[in-house]
Amino acid sequence: MKSKFNGLTSKQVKVLREKYGLNELVKQEKPSPFKKFIGIFKEPMFLLLVITATLYFILGEPKEAFIMLVFVVAVASITFIQEWKTETSMNALKDLTSPKVNVLRDGKEVVIKSCELVPGDIIFLSEGERIPADCLVLEASNFCVDESILTGESEHVIKLSKEECEESQDHWKKYVLYAGTLAIFGKCTGKVKLTGVETEYGKIGKAISETKEESTPLQKKIGILVKNLAIAAVVLCSLVVVASYIYNRDILKSLLSGISLAMAVIPEEFPVVLTVFLSMGAYRLAKKNTLMRKVSAVETLGSTTILCVDKTGTITQNKMKVKNIYANGKVINSKDMDDKHISDLFVLSCEREPYDPMEKAIVEIGCLNSNIKDLYTYELSGKIAFNSKTKRMANIYTKENRYYVAAKGSPETIIPICNLNNDEVKELEKIIDDMAAKGLRVLAFADTLSDDINEELDEYSLQFRGLVGLQDPPKDGIKEAINTCKKAGIRVVMITGDYSKTAMAIGEEIGLEFANKSITGDNINEMEDSELCKAVNNCDVFSRVIPEHKMKIVKALKKNGEIVAMTGDGVNDAPALKNADIGIAMGKSGTQVAREAAHMILMDDNFTTIVNSVEDGRRVFDNIRKAIVYIMIVHIPIAAIALFAPIFNLPQLLLPMHIMFLELIIDPTCSIVFEGEEAEPHIMEQPPRSPSESLLTKGLTRKVLLQGTTMFLGSFLPFHLLVDSGYGVEYSRSFALVALIVANVTLVLVNRSNTKYLSSAFKEKGNKIRGIVNGIAVGILLCIVYIPFLQSLFKTQGLEFNMLVIAAAIGFSSTAWWEIIKVIKNRKTSF
Ligand code: ADP
Ligand code: MG
Repeated sequence: MKSKFNGLTSKQVKVLREKYGLNELVKQEKPSPFKKFIGIFKEPMFLLLVITATLYFILGEPKEAFIMLVFVVAVASITFIQEWKTETSMNALKDLTSPKVNVLRDGKEVVIKSCELVPGDIIFLSEGERIPADCLVLEASNFCVDESILTGESEHVIKLSKEECEESQDHWKKYVLYAGTLAIFGKCTGKVKLTGVETEYGKIGKAISETKEESTPLQKKIGILVKNLAIAAVVLCSLVVVASYIYNRDILKSLLSGISLAMAVIPEEFPVVLTVFLSMGAYRLAKKNTLMRKVSAVETLGSTTILCVDKTGTITQNKMKVKNIYANGKVINSKDMDDKHISDLFVLSCEREPYDPMEKAIVEIGCLNSNIKDLYTYELSGKIAFNSKTKRMANIYTKENRYYVAAKGSPETIIPICNLNNDEVKELEKIIDDMAAKGLRVLAFADTLSDDINEELDEYSLQFRGLVGLQDPPKDGIKEAINTCKKAGIRVVMITGDYSKTAMAIGEEIGLEFANKSITGDNINEMEDSELCKAVNNCDVFSRVIPEHKMKIVKALKKNGEIVAMTGDGVNDAPALKNADIGIAMGKSGTQVAREAAHMILMDDNFTTIVNSVEDGRRVFDNIRKAIVYIMIVHIPIAAIALFAPIFNLPQLLLPMHIMFLELIIDPTCSIVFEGEEAEPHIMEQPPRSPSESLLTKGLTRKVLLQGTTMFLGSFLPFHLLVDSGYGVEYSRSFALVALIVANVTLVLVNRSNTKYLSSAFKEKGNKIRGIVNGIAVGILLCIVYIPFLQSLFKTQGLEFNMLVIAAAIGFSSTAWWEIIKVIKNRKTSF
């Protein structure tokens, strides 16, 4: 289609961009990598490292000081890479969710990000969009805008081109579209005048109040955990300082032990785990057609108990096909239609260039008998727009100096305003019920010739013409997806504006439960809140519902303690989407407003994708839990060794550099390794997790204490024994280190799954990063134990081969024993 307007060319855009900058209200500052790098050094970990290095210098041990500095760089690089990775994935997400606009560039209509607009651009707007910049109206058809955000007036404003407007002294012009306001309905072509802070909206500076990402329930819980652990760490460290002072009477050395312990037990990994897991989770979902607007939704997703979904397009294919037609007193197949008058009505009652699949199907059937070119020569003189409340619409044409009204809509809203007697209505109702029982959507058609144009359809005296039954079958795989939900303890509720019988027929087909009665919008209007709360418990089908009812449904379900995910696409769906625990906007058919209100955007409008996302949400949470449990476990031996060595009058097993070495293994393990673990095989066969459930359940706390303790004993006891039997400290330390690192590697493999066994970790390809990180850990360990230069740095000594094997075996068994518990647990659940 060739536009009659000339947009800008890329060259012009470039010049204008230089002059006016991006169309944004707050300058998006890209933090420089250098600044970031410096930022890392402000963290407590680095302060500790630097203090340790200094202490070593004071003690006159420059070699040790030097190692600590090497660690500073290593840890900084890891943190830096991690942050950079999280940030790039977050930015990619932001890019995908940022508002877009249709614009004319180089003579072609293209979609760009709103922030790329420059003054002079020609843009095309339609209902549900937020106006991206201050624009002049070039052409508007029935374009209506909500400007309350600027003017405070809740009355909607109809926009017109400048020629159509009367002179007015008003500050707010009818021919100007203002950035930040909202298109309610209609279409409009505009020319951008002002962008960014130059706009009226920018001048008011309202956008500054842009919502910050609030912390998620999980982040809050972790925050509390971190605080408690930090307090415990401080107490523990003071104890160690005192204990080792009693032991060696050397304040500097005692401080050193205390500080090295602090390095080990400061729970800095927890927040890192959360951000990495949630943002990587969101990034993974984005690749699978689910965009997270709030990262926190990833976490909520896993605990969803109810999915409320639209019927048309989400559950059904939205590929409408006309099956039956009722005309001139009989029901016929769509192919056998031969009434030209009614065929004309089919075409004329639809949009000129229909995009709605239903209208497309109707026009297609109409064209079998009518000549569409002739029909489109009629002048369109008026329109009664469709809305979800009235459920009907009409086009009004000028025909031989009179007006021809072509109307269509749901039978309940069309039939009562036609001239029909009671018997005729009864007869029609029977036919409609028959069609609906087959799952068809039924539409009624009526027309009339009139001398004047009226605002409302019921002011005409309409002539009933016929019915059309449209088929819209469920998408492939819906039934299976709904079954998955059932097994996962998630109820699926279908909400539709369609006729009850049609809705129930579809509901029946896909396996929803509703005891032969759906709840209708009228029912909802009549019910008290408490009645509705009860009613929503046992009915999965809501029919003849308007968007406003969705809000009531969400509220009732939430009152019942459910975690509600709700889909929506229209402007009126926004409140319900905002109120749901997870609002899901449609990426294809949805309006921008719905998207802004939603937590999550479904790019393919497909129900099955939602179910997959829930599974991902559960996996992410599971992995967060596994990572946190892992972190707690591995810190038990580190802390306990530091504490018990002086108590048992032993030299320190773990010196600061050993602790740093361990931290360097632990950091990537708890973040990228556990992040990449696959979902448990039966993750969708368990009831949803209660959101009030604490992160560390009693069972998990027990696991942490048990595994942590055996891991501690596995390295500390041999060390104790060896030292006591006269082996040198270096030799004993090597032995204990080998045991500890092997225990850690085994722990990762054991705790990667609650159900799958250790042996399967080697069979499946699964998580490559796990192999890499574990391999590096073992490799470095061997270097530390056997390379002379490193031996002198790390105060170790080579082990004989058989001792190496024994140490490894002890380490292995100190964590692998948990497999027995798994066997017992798996038995229990499978019976
Ligand atoms: P759904 O929730 O299934 O998407 P809608 O709210 O879109 O339902 O539509 C509700 C009812 O409004 C339909 O069953 C139909 O009777 C009527 N309807 C929908 N679209 C149109 C249209 N373009 N013209 C006339 N009537 C329509
Ligand atoms: Mg619809």
